[in-house]
Amino acid sequence: MKPSKIRYSCRHCNTEVGSIPFSSAEEIIRELEKAEQGQDEQFLEYDKNGSVTVRCICEQCEQSLRQNPDYYALRKWLQ
Ligand SMILES: [Zn+2]
Repeated sequence: MKPSKIRYSCRHCNTEVGSIPFSSAEEIIRELEKAEQGQDEQFLEYDKNGSVTVRCICEQCEQSLRQNPDYYALRKWLQ
């Protein structure tokens, strides 16, 4: 099934950062799939509704991450 849209959501707090129609995002998805190969972390999630979620990081979490790198490293292990 062809995804209908691509959503960006924060991998830490699940906040939806934004979404764009898939037609303008095919190129991005292809790039992300390439980037994902050879990495442990998953950037892309496909759901039943045919949308693709890109796991990114929101501004807020990025700031906290810079301030408390240890805290986030720990949380990642606990999840
Ligand atoms: Zn966040």
